Amino acid sequence: MIKIALTGNPNSGRTTIFNKITGLRRPVGNYPGVTVRKEEAAFVVDGVRIKIIDLPGTYALTPYSEEELVVRSFILEEKPDVVVDVLDASNLERSLYLATQLMELDVPLVLALNMSDEAKARGIEFDLGMLSKLISTPIVPTVALRGEGMKQLISQALESASKSKERGPVTVNYGRDIEDALESLVQLIQQEQGDFTGRYNSRWLAAKLLENDRDIIGKLGNEKILAAAEEAARHLETLLGDRPEIIMAERRYGFISGACQEAVRTTVETRHNLSDRVDDLVMNDALGIPILLLVMYAIFYLTFTLGEGPQRAIEFLFNRLSVFVSSFWAAGAVNPLKSLLVEGIIGGVGGVVVFLPNILFLFFGIALLEDTGYTARAAFIMDRLMHKIGLHGKSFIPLLVGFGCSVPAIIATRTLENRRDRLLTMFIIPLISCGGRFPIYALIIPAFFSKTWQAPVLWMIYVIGIVLAVITALILNKTALKGKSDPFVMELPPYRIPTARSVLFHMWQPGWQYLRKAGTVIFGASIILWALAAFPHKKEFEQNYSGQRLQAAAAFNSGLDSLGPRLGLSAAGSETLSAQLAERRNHPGSRPPADKNGSAQQTALISEFLSVVDGLEKQTRARASGTSIAAQAQDADLYSAASYYLEKVKHPYQERLAHINRLKQREQLSYSIAGKIGRALETVVRPLGFDWKISTALLGGLAAKELVVAQLGIIYAVEEGEQGEHTLREKIREDYSPLVAVCVLLFLLIGTPCMATLAVVRKESESWGWALLQWGWLTAMAYLVALVVYQVGNFFGLGLG
Ligand code: GDP
Ligand code: MG
Repeated sequence: MIKIALTGNPNSGRTTIFNKITGLRRPVGNYPGVTVRKEEAAFVVDGVRIKIIDLPGTYALTPYSEEELVVRSFILEEKPDVVVDVLDASNLERSLYLATQLMELDVPLVLALNMSDEAKARGIEFDLGMLSKLISTPIVPTVALRGEGMKQLISQALESASKSKERGPVTVNYGRDIEDALESLVQLIQQEQGDFTGRYNSRWLAAKLLENDRDIIGKLGNEKILAAAEEAARHLETLLGDRPEIIMAERRYGFISGACQEAVRTTVETRHNLSDRVDDLVMNDALGIPILLLVMYAIFYLTFTLGEGPQRAIEFLFNRLSVFVSSFWAAGAVNPLKSLLVEGIIGGVGGVVVFLPNILFLFFGIALLEDTGYTARAAFIMDRLMHKIGLHGKSFIPLLVGFGCSVPAIIATRTLENRRDRLLTMFIIPLISCGGRFPIYALIIPAFFSKTWQAPVLWMIYVIGIVLAVITALILNKTALKGKSDPFVMELPPYRIPTARSVLFHMWQPGWQYLRKAGTVIFGASIILWALAAFPHKKEFEQNYSGQRLQAAAAFNSGLDSLGPRLGLSAAGSETLSAQLAERRNHPGSRPPADKNGSAQQTALISEFLSVVDGLEKQTRARASGTSIAAQAQDADLYSAASYYLEKVKHPYQERLAHINRLKQREQLSYSIAGKIGRALETVVRPLGFDWKISTALLGGLAAKELVVAQLGIIYAVEEGEQGEHTLREKIREDYSPLVAVCVLLFLLIGTPCMATLAVVRKESESWGWALLQWGWLTAMAYLVALVVYQVGNFFGLGLG
C-alpha cells in the first residue's frame, strides 16, 4: 500500500484535491485552527492500493502551533511514501516556504501547482520545467476545482514514491556562518547519536537545533550535542545580530525568491518594497554587470588607499627591527647569522607582513558584500554569463573565494554536485587573482605607475584574470569537459545591515590565516631561499673591483683639483679645499678644522663654499626648487662651483662606487645556488624581458606566491647590503622598465599555481593527471601571454620607457 500525505497552506485546495481523487465529499474551505484532525481515505488505482491523508493546512513546520506539530510528526513518524504539497499558484512564494521545509525533511515530494487558473488570470507565467529543475522536485499543474491534473498528480506521486531516494539533496544554503555551524553539528550528531540519524536527516536535525526547536531538543536529550548547539546559536547570534531561526527563515525566503526570479514571470507589476527596488537596479539586465564591476573597483581602490598608512607603519617597524638586530654586530661586518636574521628572516617575513593591512581591507570589503546580501545578487547576475561558458552560477561562490586564496576556493567547489562542474570550476580558480598575489601587485604597481593609474592597473589585472578564466572555461567546455551544467537555485536573501562583529570576524579570519602562513611556511621558505642566495661564497671575482675603486677615487681627486682655480684660490688654498672635501667624503658630515696657514680671506671663501655645498645637498634631499639656494648664495660663481662639484665630481664618483659594488654583489649572487638556477632559467624567460633575478624570484613563487616578494626582498638586500636606503620598490624601479613590470604581473597572475594549489587540486579531483594538466596549462598560458605582451610592447618601443 502506498501512503500519500497532502500538505499545503490553508486554503490551497488540499481538501478539494482529496475529494476529487477519492470521490468523497469532505467539507472544503476550512480555516487555520479549525481542522486539526486529519482525514484519510483508501482507494485503488491500476491495482495499487493507495491511502491518502489530508493533513491540516500550515505555513511552516515549526513546533509552535498544533497543526504544524501534527503535520511534522505525521511525516516523521508515519513516514508516508510520498508527500504531495499543494501550492497556491497565485501565492507561490508563500506556498513554497512550506515546500522548502519539506525538502529539508528529505521525504519524497511532489508539488501540485494548484489554482493555476487563478494565477493565469492574474497574468503570472511559470517556467515549470525550470522551477522543477531548480528545486529538483516534480511539479504538476492542477486546477482542483475542475479536476484538472488529478491523474497526472497521482501518477507522479506513485512514480516518486517508487524511486523515493532518487531526488538529489536540495538544501537551502543558509550562508557561510550557519553552514559552518551546521556542518560541525552534523558531524557531532553522527558521532554521538548514530541511531537517531537512521530515522531523521541529520542536517535537518542540526538545523532544528540551531533554530532552538523545543520538540527536537526534547527528543534528542544528548547533553553534549545540545551544549554544542547552544554555543553555536549564541555565536551566530552575536555574529549575525539576529537569532539563527530568523536568519534561516530569511535564507529560505531568499532561496524561494531566487528560484522565482528565474522561473516566474509576472506580467502584472506587484513588487514594490525597497529590497525589490534595489534588486531592480543591481540585477538589471543592462546595469547589473557594470555595477558589479564598479563595486569591485571601489573595493580595490579602498584596499589601496586605506592600506597605505598602516602599511608604511609596519614597514617602518620592520626597518627599525632590522637596524636594531644589525646593531649587535659592527657596522659593515659580514656575518652569516646577521645576514640570516636581517636579510633572510626579517626581510622575508617583513616583506610579506607589510601587506596584512591590504589583505584585511580586501576581506573587509568582501565581508561587507557578503553580509549585506550583495554577493547573492552578484552570483545571480553572473549566472547568465556563467551558463554561457558552461558553468553554474553556483561556481561563482568558489570563484569569489578564489580572490582570497585558491586553496579554500577549490575546496568550496564541493558544493557543486556534478563532477564536470567541479573540475571545470577548479581548473579556472587559479586565474582568479588570489590574496597571495596581492603583495606582488602592491609592490610592483606603485613602483611603475602614478597614483591615478594604480587602482585602474590593479583592476585591469583582476579583469584580465577573469577574462582568461572565461576563455579557459570555454575551451574546456568544447574539449575535455563537454556537457551542460545543472541549474540550481541561487538564493536572494533580503538585504541586511551587516553587524560589525561579523564583518570584523570575516576580515580577521583570512588575515590571521595570512599571518600564520607568514609565520610558518614563509618563515621556513625564507630561510631556504636566503641560503640559496647567499651560498656558496665567491672568493675569486672576475673583475678587479678594488682596482676599479682606486680608479674612481683618482678621477674624484683630479675633479677636486680643478675646483681651486675655479674659485680663484691660491695653490695652497686649492690643496686645503681638496683635502677638506676628501675628508668629508671619507667621513660624511665631518667638518675638518680650517687650515691655519691659509689666509683669512681664503679660509672664509672655503668655508662659504662648503656651506653652499651643504645647502645644495640638503635641498636635493628635500627635492626643493633650485632657485632658493642660488638666491642665497651671494656669489654666483660660488654657487656654480658648488653645483659643478656635486654634479660633476661627487655624484658621479658615488654612482661609480655604487655601481662597482653592485657589480661585485651581483657576481656573488649569480655565483650562488639561486643565481645558478635563475641563470639556467634565464635563457627560457629572456624573451619575456625577464632577467635571472626575476626568474630567481619566480622560483619562490612556486612554493607560495607571497614568496615572490620575499625573494625579491632577499635578492635586493643581498645585492646592495644594508647601506642602501632605497626601499625595495625603488630598487626595482631602477632595474626594470614598466613593460617588464607588466609582463611580470601577467606572468604571476596567470602562471605557476603554487604548491598548495597543486596539492589541493590533486586531492579534490582525485587525479594527478588533472592537477598536472592544470599546472602545465596555466604555466604555458602565462608564458605565452607575457611573451606576446613583451614582444609587441618592445616592437612599439615601450620597453625603453
Ligand atoms: P484546503 O484548506 O487546502 O483544504 O483548501 P480547500 O480545498 O478547502 O479549498 C479552498 C478554496 O479554494 C475552496 O473554496 C475551493 O473551492 C477553492 N479551490 C480549490 N482548488 C481551486 C482551484 O484550482 N482553482 C480555484 N480557482 N479555486 C480552487
Ligand atoms: Mg481542507
